[in-house]
Order: sequence, then structure tokens, then C-alpha cells
Amino acid sequence: NYEEHYFNEKCGKSKAMITEAKTVIPGGVQHNLAFNYPFPIVITKAEGAKMYDLDGNEYYDLLQAGGPTILGSNDPVVREKVIDLLNTCGPSTGLFHEYEYKLAKKISEMVPSVEMFRMLGSGTEACMCAARIARLATGKKNILKMGGAYHGWSDQMAYGIRIPGTKGMMSKGVPGFVFRHTDEFFPNDLEDLEKHLKRNKHTGGTAAVFIEPIGPESGTRPVSKEFVKGCERLAHRYGALLVCDEVVSGFRIGPGGAQGYYGIDPDLTIFGKIIAGGFPGAGGVGGHRDVMAHLGAGLDSSGKKVSKALCGGTLAATPVSCVAGYYTLCEIEKRNACEVAGRMGDRLTKGLKASIRKYNLPFVAFNIGSVCHLDNAGTMHFAIDWTKPWQLPHILKETGIRQKEMEHMGAAYMAEGLITLAGTRLYTSAAYTEEMIDDVISRF
Ligand code: PLP
Repeated sequence: NYEEHYFNEKCGKSKAMITEAKTVIPGGVQHNLAFNYPFPIVITKAEGAKMYDLDGNEYYDLLQAGGPTILGSNDPVVREKVIDLLNTCGPSTGLFHEYEYKLAKKISEMVPSVEMFRMLGSGTEACMCAARIARLATGKKNILKMGGAYHGWSDQMAYGIRIPGTKGMMSKGVPGFVFRHTDEFFPNDLEDLEKHLKRNKHTGGTAAVFIEPIGPESGTRPVSKEFVKGCERLAHRYGALLVCDEVVSGFRIGPGGAQGYYGIDPDLTIFGKIIAGGFPGAGGVGGHRDVMAHLGAGLDSSGKKVSKALCGGTLAATPVSCVAGYYTLCEIEKRNACEVAGRMGDRLTKGLKASIRKYNLPFVAFNIGSVCHLDNAGTMHFAIDWTKPWQLPHILKETGIRQKEMEHMGAAYMAEGLITLAGTRLYTSAAYTEEMIDDVISRF
């Protein structure tokens, strides 16, 4: 009974603070990733691959803030650059800062499809922006997304996540008509994508095909290279843009993102997380020059006002997010961070697989570089044919039950000093060493 023996015994100060916080914060926490355990723990210190809580407990950090901290938490180089900036111009001015340019230039050097880049406030904002530009650039209406993929929590995109084929709304409080021009296609099923593209020809055409290139939900359900390349081919055949959501995979799967790994050239790419190195304000859209021209100040070369997509906000592209992002990307290159973190992910996954085999556990472990997944074998898509709609109620029930089980596992891992994402996703960073990974495996 880890709840009794660990959380109540060793996390008393966290429990007291969360109990108090519940009086003014709905649910007691402000961030959805913190909900997964019997009660959230309060973190007071983060450094490299480790985190420490209010009661002084030490943890390995396999959550990595949900993905942004590939260099490890609180990286000293990035931190010092941010402090220098704060000592000179402070967190924001509302006017232009040289690091807006430096970050955009750096991203365009690292990701060839990005000729121009617009920094925004979050991945959610960047997804909204990409949909808007795609509609302007193509003059078409519909957005097709890969079933099960997450593209942020905006009204239009809060559709069909987690389980491909369910077309369910992610959130209450969103009217159904918002999804009139959004639909999803099954992962690894190009015929299904083409069926939707054909059908959309009669309802305003398809403006964009959105993909998470490593598969929906950060590769929880992996997709093949042929499928990813096929999405690009089919999108273009039907006059739609290919929009690659690299919020998780960008600067993690490799310095050129998953698109470099798969050899695709998306019209637009959505970035988040790592582009601000763990600091707030992590979102952006980059892409081909002609498409990105639909953003801008709204004036053409003769100074005449033209209709452009309105995307941005008061605290989008602050000097803090841009300076943190710029030095994070520089350090990723210098330290070969994607490769190092990826090697750690391979070692962790290999170790998990060996334990699963040794103890005959009903789990599967797999990874794409530093994005590692540990799931209950029963929920995995390759055990099930997602395209059979009659299976969905069963899958939903099973997945719901198993999801709970995995969250309980997440709490048990935590009692062993391992912080994961809901017990099913584990990010490795360049701050890990082989010895640390071996220690993590033994705790699992
Ligand atoms: N797209 C993907 C693939 C994501 O994983 C996420 C967040 O996890 C988002 C978009 C939304 O980004 P944000 O949480 O910064 O709004």
C-alpha cells in the first residue's frame, strides 16, 4: 500500500499544502500533468535529471516538464543567459528584441522546411495559428487530423484525442458545431486519409492535414515512415498543406526534428516545449516562405493594408522565451543532446523490456529516441484493429480501466523515486548517465 506507506508518511508537507491549495485552486493544482497521483507533490528544486520535493525526497525526473527540458532541468548555461537578460531589459517590453531574430534564424538553420518562423505563447496557440494560415493559404475549409493526436486544447482541436476513431470531444463546454470542419483519419491508414480528402472536396476542400510525425500522443501509437511520407504525398495531391506538429518531437528526435528523421518537407511546422527551453512562452509556427507570408503586419509592399491571419498575443515571443530558446538550441547542438538523450532512451527501454520478459509482466515498452512508452499490453493499438468501429465501445472500456491501472503504477513508481508522465510515458534527457539509467531500471 504505497499510498499509506509512502505518500502519507513521506510527503506530509506536500499533502498539507495541496489540501490548503484546494481552497483557492480548482482541484488543488494549476497544471494537468500534476493530477496523476494520490495527491500532487510539491517540487522545490530541480537540477539535471533530479527533482526534490517539499519534504526533501529525491526523484529521477522522467517527466521532463512534459518534454521541454531535453538538456535536463534548470540547465546552468541557459539559466545564466536568462539572468543576464533579466538584469538588462527585464522579462518583456512589447517591442522587438534581437533574440526574436536570433531564435528564428537558428530554427531556420536547423530545420530546412522552416524558411520563416513566428514565435507564439504555447503549442496550443501555434496549432490554432497553423490552421488559420492553412485556410488563408489554400482558400479551403476543412482540417484533417490523425486520429488520437493531441494538438492543444483550443475549441477546434479538442477533438478525437487519445483513441483513434472515437471522434470524441476532449473537453466539456465546447459546442459541437465547432468541429464541423474538423475530422480525423486512422493512423497508418492512407486509404482512410484519401477517403476523407475525397469527401472534403464536396464540402469546401481540405486546408490542411495535421500529423504528429512520430504518431498520435507523442508516438503512443507509432506510425510507419511510409505512412508519414504518404500523408505528405496525399495532402499535396488534394491541394492541402501538410502541417507537422513537432511540439514534442522538435529538437528531441533529432536537431532537425522528426521531419528530418522521416525525410519530409512539411509546408508548416508547429513547435513548442523545447523552443523555450522550459521557460514560459513555448510555441511557434514555421514553414515555407509563401505560406508564412499569410502572417505579418498586414501591409503589402506598397503599404496597402491586406488581409492577413491575426495570430499573437501580449506575451508571445518575450525576450525571456526567445533567449532561453536560442541558447537551448545552441546547447543541443554543442552537446549533441538529442543523440545522448536518445541513447539513454534506448538503454532504458532495453532494460524495461528485459524486466517485462523476466517477470512476465503484461506490459509493452518501446521508444523513439528519448520518448519512451510503457503501456499495458492490452491497450496497445497493434493488438487491435482500430478501423473496426464496432470494437470501439469495448476498447474504450478496456482502455479506461487500464489507464487507471497505469496511473496507479505511476504512483508506485513515484514511491520508488521515479517521476513519470502518468506512469506510461518517460522522457530521458541529456543530463542522464548510463549509471543513472541502470538505477532507474532497477527501481522499476
Ligand atoms: N501538440 C502536441 C503534439 C503536444 O504534445 C502538445 C502538448 O503537449 C501541444 C500541441 C500543446 O502544446 P501546449 O501544451 O504548449 O499548449
